[in-house]
Amino acid sequence: MAAETITAIVARLENRYGVAQWKPGTDPVDELVACILSQHTSDINSGRAFRDLKAAYAEWELVVQDTPENLAKVIWRGGLSNMKAPRIQAVLRRLKAEHGEYSLNALYAMTDAEARAYLMALPGVGPKTAAIVLCFAMGRNVMPVDTHIFRVSWRLGLIQKKIGEAKAHDALQALVPPELTYRYHVAVITHGRQVCRAIGPKCKECLVSELCGWYASEHRTNNGEGPSNG
Ligand code: SF4
Repeated sequence: MAAETITAIVARLENRYGVAQWKPGTDPVDELVACILSQHTSDINSGRAFRDLKAAYAEWELVVQDTPENLAKVIWRGGLSNMKAPRIQAVLRRLKAEHGEYSLNALYAMTDAEARAYLMALPGVGPKTAAIVLCFAMGRNVMPVDTHIFRVSWRLGLIQKKIGEAKAHDALQALVPPELTYRYHVAVITHGRQVCRAIGPKCKECLVSELCGWYASEHRTNNGEGPSNG
């Protein structure tokens, strides 16, 4: 897949959804803890748990000093709190031990690959969490892949469905021009929520149907109705 095709996909989607511009704002440690809380639950529930955590503890040191049981009670609205509480404490202890503070500022001196590897070595941190911290909190060109990004990308023919979400991070990272990482992510996730839905994608109103591999194959076999699910 040529970079020109991906650039064209982003341009067409941005005509509809607007051009996303990254802005600094979220503290990387906040983003990391919020990501751990978001694992295996909805954004609404994890948001509630993060707000409860920040309201209960004035600083990270107090989170670390508390018992895992108490922390689990504070963050219960995020689900799986008995697993997430010790995981959050372990990550925070590691940051303090390695950097002398509860901070990810050391990552600014690392390359994208080094920073990603560092984060993925932390307890419970996988490629998606690492990419979210780097992309959203630090403005790095590292591609987060969620269910929408994965689905739209394989439907478009950019990646193969069989590789799965975890390996899609590397595959898309290699395809999307670095300067388009954030814009691709925002445009495609919006497209996945509004048009290229998991069930019943609205192919007839899709601005990138001419560039969509799956639509092209379905168009040949069902008279242009587009794929019905997937
Ligand atoms: S043509 Fe259909 S399947 Fe392809 S990207 Fe658009 S909505 Fe998704």
